[in-house]
Amino acid sequence: MTIATLNDAAFNNRAFAAFDVIDLESADMVITTAESLSQPVVLMVPHKAFPVLPLERFIGRIRNWAESATVPVCVHLDHGETLEGARQGLDAGFSSIMIDASAETFDRNVELTRKACELARPYGVSVEAELGRVGGDEGNFDETSATQNIYTDADEAARFVEATGVDALAISFGTSHGLYQGEPKLNFDIVRAVKERTPVKLVMHGASGLPDHEYGKAAEAGIGKINMFTEISVTGATAANAAWDKRGGKLHFFEMLMSGKQAMAARTAHYMNLISAGNERRHG
Ligand SMILES: [Zn+2]
Repeated sequence: MTIATLNDAAFNNRAFAAFDVIDLESADMVITTAESLSQPVVLMVPHKAFPVLPLERFIGRIRNWAESATVPVCVHLDHGETLEGARQGLDAGFSSIMIDASAETFDRNVELTRKACELARPYGVSVEAELGRVGGDEGNFDETSATQNIYTDADEAARFVEATGVDALAISFGTSHGLYQGEPKLNFDIVRAVKERTPVKLVMHGASGLPDHEYGKAAEAGIGKINMFTEISVTGATAANAAWDKRGGKLHFFEMLMSGKQAMAARTAHYMNLISAGNERRHG
């Protein structure tokens, strides 16, 4: 199957799951789980992880797997922090990129996003941007680095999409990156208001560890892409640790790896099923 962008028909008019991966076993786990459920999926690699990866070989390998998958797979750069990072991602072979200039002013965000779109077009790659600010700090357990939420304004979102030509837009309506401390309060009125004013895919960041009923509700409200990372990664680490304890440390590396992978696959399937149930309600 050819590698998908976010504009692939498989991702239209429905919510779909997107998972961050920084290692090959997790990438394999996501693709295999998506295949077992016959659902399209987005594999994401965070820009922040570039320094710890052999980037081109890693993306090359993931692309190979994506191309041989039985379901559409998009390989997306998550939270591209600079135009240089976006360019690096395009050269490495991502089929979709995010430029996150949400910490900048509206005008500067427009300018950087428009430039990222110009860079991406010749590659035939889709582009996601962010407006408003999803707080927290992805994959980081240190609370002190967390930032606050700034909710997305629907009129601004419409102007932003028009001015940039972006394909997908991450919006802020109460989710937060990393693990939640208390019960998150999501405002789906914001999602519906933005959805009414723009045709692009809306993205929910910080979807790790929400109460189960929120995933279907997000799909029903009009969210397209649902990003997850921390909770699934922690599930894998916890299971690997439990396998170690159970065997008193007398086990091989691959056995720890497989325990983690199996647990992550179960969580991944769980979320994909919740989202797909929401899609069914969305379309009645
Ligand atoms: Zn994010």
